Amino acid sequence: MPSSSNAESTAFRSALEVIRAVEPRVADAIGAELADQRESLKLIASENYASPATLLAMGNWFSDKYAEGTVGRRFYAGCQNVDTVEALAAEHARELFGAAHAYVQPHSGIDANLVAFWAILADRVEAPALKRAQARHVNDLTEADWFTLRRELGNQRMLGMSLDAGGHLTHGFRPNISGKMFDQRSYGTDPTTGLVDYDKVAEAAREFKPLILVGGYSAYPRKVNFRILREIADEVGATFMVDMAHFAGLVAGKVFTGDFDPVPHAHIVTTTTHKSLRGPRGGMVLCGPELAEQVDRGCPMVLGGPLPHVMAAKAVALAEARRPDFADYAQRIVANSQALAEGLLRRGATLVTGGTDNHLVLIDVTGYGLTGRQAEQALLDSGIVTNRNAVPQDPNGAWYTSGVRIGTPALTTRGLGTDQMDETAELIHTVLSQTRPGSNADGTPSKAKYTLEPAVSERIAKQASDLVAGFPLYPTVDLG
Ligand SMILES: *Cc1c(COP(=O)(O)O)cnc(C)c1O
Repeated sequence: MPSSSNAESTAFRSALEVIRAVEPRVADAIGAELADQRESLKLIASENYASPATLLAMGNWFSDKYAEGTVGRRFYAGCQNVDTVEALAAEHARELFGAAHAYVQPHSGIDANLVAFWAILADRVEAPALKRAQARHVNDLTEADWFTLRRELGNQRMLGMSLDAGGHLTHGFRPNISGKMFDQRSYGTDPTTGLVDYDKVAEAAREFKPLILVGGYSAYPRKVNFRILREIADEVGATFMVDMAHFAGLVAGKVFTGDFDPVPHAHIVTTTTHKSLRGPRGGMVLCGPELAEQVDRGCPMVLGGPLPHVMAAKAVALAEARRPDFADYAQRIVANSQALAEGLLRRGATLVTGGTDNHLVLIDVTGYGLTGRQAEQALLDSGIVTNRNAVPQDPNGAWYTSGVRIGTPALTTRGLGTDQMDETAELIHTVLSQTRPGSNADGTPSKAKYTLEPAVSERIAKQASDLVAGFPLYPTVDLG
């Protein structure tokens, strides 16, 4: 690579030099991470590559600041510059998504969901209890009323998409705090089509009467009709929350519009900022004026102090997402995903729902005689980075699984297009069709072991790295 003296190369090189003087192994690891990312064919549906401006906005003095509170109303002095970036991030978010209110402090997607859950509980359970007791503040409640309220807060119902249909752990599943907070039930997908069955969702909602109906997913390859889900929520008196962590970039880029845009239909929307939205690692909550005040109490209710450096980076990334070229990017993500799906189908792969209309494809690898775990590892040996994922009614459970989830946001950021997706489909299919399930020492079939000729994995790895080499990652950044 020619040595380059542009601003981005200079910035990153200088930063590494400063770090190297203190702990060279950290500088080396940072450099190695860029090199690894440049070489790999990354198909992890939840990952992306943030812009140099976004990355640089995170490495500075904002990290030193405590800024509990909200813009203009801080519990700490000297927050005028934090106010500037937090207000900018929120303004960009409101404009980009057409939301009345944006809360940009959540540190991650899980945190954004916690903020939303507690805003809803405060609005629907705590506020009425305070009113009944004629108290203005929880501190004014008697011990007996407080005891009753705490029991009530911990016994509310949530209805969300099941994990194996593509829902997320934070939507009321037991290993996550949401499952301990809520009495949860889930809706699945139609066993023949693999699609959300709205009549079944309505049936479950009528019977269960949840306080919160959750829409959103991390492994469902289709559009969801949020208008219909809102009608269901209204019918049963539920608050409708959408977690768009995975597909926020497709909403921002106006690929999901009308019934498929959650923002006009949901009472509250949560998201990450680092997946298809291509920003810094973080989260965000959007809502109407009714829930705004409760949402703004996220810190210190469930969040630690805000991360002003990350809010600065959110402001930069959201400004980028408002530019016209982001809509073009979002469209290319889906075009690539569909090209990848078609390429795989043409070669005989089985896909959950038979295709995709978003950024991800879920391959049912039982068609290749493999578990998700075997497929994921064989692909990784061959330079293709994916992750295993359950498929609906998964016979192999949540650990081994029967699926591999692949997504196109990251490769699309690098500039790969539909022709390269066909080539990618060929590489994936070759690996999966050449991999054989292995057996345990006692001869029983193993869900983890497999065999793949080293010559095949080496050849595919070479082809994969040649493929991405044509689309340099961070082309403006040369670490020398
Ligand atoms: C990724 C994801 C999250 C969690 O985001 P983190 O930033 O890892 O906390 C939450 N919900 C959904 C639907 C996700 O896909």
